[in-house]
Amino acid sequence: MTTEPAWLTKQTADDTVHAVPLDDGVVHDFTSDCLCGPAPQVVPGGVVLVHPSLDGREHQETP
Ligand SMILES: [Zn+2]
Repeated sequence: MTTEPAWLTKQTADDTVHAVPLDDGVVHDFTSDCLCGPAPQVVPGGVVLVHPSLDGREHQETP
């Protein structure tokens, strides 16, 4: 049984999308100044700011 990582994505500007973990232990701001220190990733058409989660789910790649 696998648990799907739960992410909320929100577009905050024409070229900016935030990916925020749901049910995380901290409250995330949809800004680059979020206390979690989101990592900007350049994608075609803009930038995705990936907010790290406390449980490190973004490091668990699905085979
Ligand atoms: Zn954050």
